[in-house]
Amino acid sequence: MSQIEQEVLAANAAYAADFGDKANLPMPPGRGFAILTCMDARLDPAKYAGLAEGDAHVVRNAGGRASDDAIRSLVISHKLLGTDEWFVVHHTDCGMETFTDEVMRGLLAQSLDTAAVDSSGWHDTGAGAGSREGDYIDWLTISDQEASVKADVARIKDHPLVPGDIPVHGYIYDCRTGRLNEVL
Ligand SMILES: [Zn+2]
Repeated sequence: MSQIEQEVLAANAAYAADFGDKANLPMPPGRGFAILTCMDARLDPAKYAGLAEGDAHVVRNAGGRASDDAIRSLVISHKLLGTDEWFVVHHTDCGMETFTDEVMRGLLAQSLDTAAVDSSGWHDTGAGAGSREGDYIDWLTISDQEASVKADVARIKDHPLVPGDIPVHGYIYDCRTGRLNEVL
């Protein structure tokens, strides 16, 4: 077993030992809302938005983008589990601002190993072989955080499977202060 796996299981044993009254939480989020946010390891939605188990849905992906799959989750969140207020939270210093579709496709075409980054951008140092499958993926990169929040809120609000009366709030989380700053 890897070191990380051992650490995860030890942490889980301690968590489960003190599970208490969380055993009987209902499936629908108790506070009736959902957050779409980035997978960035510095963001902890439970902490930055004050969530306890059972409170809210959190949908995460690279960038916190309103991808088809993020919208799939939000539609399930409302239609089957009753959330009726949503947040889109992007953040400062997002990795999705550091590359373009073209860069990502080029890196993947060279190798599948982790690429290196420096002041001149991303470089592939892997041994190969890579794959051109990356050409078929829209990586949903970000060039302007405010614009990406606005575009994603608009896409969600305008989506035919999303009722028009669901408030969708747009915020940028500041990685230096922990604050949520409103975009719209
Ligand atoms: Zn990010």
